[in-house]
Amino acid sequence: MRVLSGIQPTGRFHWGNYFGAIKQYIDLQDNEQAFYFIADLHALTTIRDAEQLKQNTIDAALDLLALGLDPKQATLFRQSDIPEVTSLTWILMTITQMSLLEKCHAYKDKKAKGIAADAGLFTYPVLMAADILLYDSDLVPVGQDQVQHIEVTRDLAQRFNMLFGETLIQPNSRTLDTSAKVPGTDGEKMSKSYGNVIEIFETPKKQRKKVMSIKTDSAALEDPKDPDNCAVFALYQLFADEAQQAALADRYRAGGMGYGEAKQAVHEAALEYFGEARERREQLAADPDTVHDILAEGARKAREKGKEVLDRVQAACGLGTVP
Ligand code: ATP
Ligand code: MG
Repeated sequence: MRVLSGIQPTGRFHWGNYFGAIKQYIDLQDNEQAFYFIADLHALTTIRDAEQLKQNTIDAALDLLALGLDPKQATLFRQSDIPEVTSLTWILMTITQMSLLEKCHAYKDKKAKGIAADAGLFTYPVLMAADILLYDSDLVPVGQDQVQHIEVTRDLAQRFNMLFGETLIQPNSRTLDTSAKVPGTDGEKMSKSYGNVIEIFETPKKQRKKVMSIKTDSAALEDPKDPDNCAVFALYQLFADEAQQAALADRYRAGGMGYGEAKQAVHEAALEYFGEARERREQLAADPDTVHDILAEGARKAREKGKEVLDRVQAACGLGTVP
């Protein structure tokens, strides 16, 4: 089975990216044919500085490798190394109804937050569909916010098949129940573009400051608190085992524990959890050639598959020289 997922190099990865998506990438790489890519074409809708985008892309690769992505098991590549994906995007665009894209939350949410919407942001789900369909992907591990885009991908594959005959595979999404929507410091979905993230590899001092800034209600120290409606508790759950979670929940409900103490517990648990990955990241960063080689080899493998599927698509709709 082909597993595929992409992640944008729009900034350094955060706890939401890890627990919603990257953790799944790593869990799935052992047993499935895994393709993971750094979505630099998507990031171009946000980042308009060449050096920055290049650097972010390398940082993204380093982060993924440090977190446990194994290039011997999974294919890791840069989206823009596979030009076939933009050809497929155009083909899909010609069968995409405007109303389908107008319904998409990512676009609607960003627009509502005042982030300027260009055609790139609006058509982002079509590029995403091409990313998935180009490699005959069966399963796409993502956070909750991307499930709708996988539905769009399924719709487009089905529509293409209806118009041109059975050509594209309809993929399924995969989310984790416990971490499909990790909250940020403001309690909303943690998202690079919302300025509410806690980065995985931030310095401990900066990370502590962010954790301490998590928004909570104004309950006094002695008041009982509700673990089910608290971003601090939700984040603690990501790092703690069941017994630790139950213990903190009891203390919340009993009152007498302040949010400051709970935040400190989150901070310490996170440092412990990502401790080894931090060390690995430093080692990897000292050897940039290896990362470049991994991305080049990944691109070679991904492109081979991508060409095969694009040929099939072009043949189905009468494009190109393929019979
Ligand atoms: P941007 O704000 O630039 O869109 P992002 O933080 O949303 O960045 P993406 O690159 O869009 O990150 O998403 C990468 C993966 O991480 C996707 O599978 C997405 O569903 C997942 N993800 C992002 N934020 C969260 C979150 N808060 N909780 C769970 N999963 C998340
Ligand atoms: Mg996003």
